[in-house]
Amino acid sequence: MHQRLTILFILFFTSVYHYNSYAQNKRPNILVILSDDHTQQTISAYGSKLMSTPSIDRIAKEGAILGNTFVTNSICAPSRAVLLTGKYSHLNGLKDNSAERRFDGNQQQLQKLLGNRGYETAWIGKWHLQSLPQGFDYWTILPDQGNYFQPDFINMKNDTIRHEGYVTNLISDFSLAWLGERDSSKPFFLVIGEKATHRNWMPDIKDLGAFDNVNFPLPENFFDKYDNRRAALEQDMTIDNTMTVGADLKIRANYDKPNMFGRMHQNEKKAYREYYDRVAGEYDKVKNNPKELVKWKYQRYMKDYLSTARSLDRNIGRILRYLDSTGLAENTIVVYTSDQGFYMGEHGWFDKRFMYEESLRTPFMIKYPGWIKPGTRLNDMVVNIDFAPTLLDMASVPVPADIQGKSFAKQLTGSHSTEVWRKSMYYHYYEYPEPHKVAPHFGVRTMRYKLIRFYGPINEWELYDLKSDKSEMNNLYGKHGYDKQTEELKKELKKLAKEFKDEEVVKILADLEGKKNK
Ligand code: CA
Repeated sequence: MHQRLTILFILFFTSVYHYNSYAQNKRPNILVILSDDHTQQTISAYGSKLMSTPSIDRIAKEGAILGNTFVTNSICAPSRAVLLTGKYSHLNGLKDNSAERRFDGNQQQLQKLLGNRGYETAWIGKWHLQSLPQGFDYWTILPDQGNYFQPDFINMKNDTIRHEGYVTNLISDFSLAWLGERDSSKPFFLVIGEKATHRNWMPDIKDLGAFDNVNFPLPENFFDKYDNRRAALEQDMTIDNTMTVGADLKIRANYDKPNMFGRMHQNEKKAYREYYDRVAGEYDKVKNNPKELVKWKYQRYMKDYLSTARSLDRNIGRILRYLDSTGLAENTIVVYTSDQGFYMGEHGWFDKRFMYEESLRTPFMIKYPGWIKPGTRLNDMVVNIDFAPTLLDMASVPVPADIQGKSFAKQLTGSHSTEVWRKSMYYHYYEYPEPHKVAPHFGVRTMRYKLIRFYGPINEWELYDLKSDKSEMNNLYGKHGYDKQTEELKKELKKLAKEFKDEEVVKILADLEGKKNK
């Protein structure tokens, strides 16, 4: 008996010892693939029937897919700043995309925290933070939004150099080159910043026409009239009015236009012209019929966006195969996410910004063999402030107290307690009026309800019951029977604004309360 106990003890301590040494010596590599405007509605792992995304789906199949991931401020540059800092826009300083607002790279960031603990760090591709990256061992970035064909990249000497090729392929080429050349004695942290699937959705030549035989179903609320939703009524992001036939849908486009079509080589221009001249024939048939025209524009938008996503998925496949073939996959955390969601015709829109579901959500999947069980589905409420602390946690790097998100690493392994991890999330959007006239707003979302307050040009509340109104068409604010729910949500909103130190919102809410009590 004694002998068996002794053996058990030895086995127990050896396994503990083995775990510790594993954590110390084999810290995971971290690869984050961050796309742009690539939304859940177009990813087959999220149930999309619009197209198949086998490479992205692989990450979900071999690891975990998150069902409720939200962003704090649904717009490009601010979301990248949240990823780097784990803090809301009002604290990391990047509230909007305006060129005057430059990200302060001196602040604490994910790559610096990992680098201090021995990680080799790099960012390759779209960056969009106006100031140059700081705290990375290596970076090469697109200036601002970048271009699809023959894009410029800024290198670490701050030289801007034009490269031959299609942007998604080039970003993969540079990423694979870095992976091959890095200091392999260290674990790595690499962010691949994709340009796809950002507007104006220019597919690679080989993907032109990939969806020509598909007739996409119109979203049910495509012809939304925006009743009882003034901010939705006053936006400027409809497929009908805002989306252009020339630059966006490439009909008789100006092929000399610098930084867009002008960058294409003659053979690329020829392929584009041949393809889009045929499409122009369809346009001519509907252009004088407004209702038919908007439906046609929707079809073209879908075809261009999804064709651009094909290259994205194909290139993610390349990266994953490289990790497999080099044996790196075994000890590498791979994350796929986007800077936010996007409207694929819902409410008649493209673009993002609003706190409504399509743009509030972002895709998130993560694999780490031996750690996250394949096929895991996590429906806990996760916010993009949680990404940085989770990755730090998984790398055994202490999470600084001023990071506002929290690690969901334990949920990924199924070892969290049953208590609710987060019961509500806080949102704050700023950019107004250009480019899409979406009024600034903040709000709170619980698993069932959403309360939004617009401020500035529009001062209105909106309330949605997501259980009965998934597409947020029915603003319940002020309607009979919702007083108690509204008060509870306002209380929660006030609590979150305070907790996250959003002084501007704390003040707006206090002023509103003051008015009410007068
Ligand atoms: Ca974006």
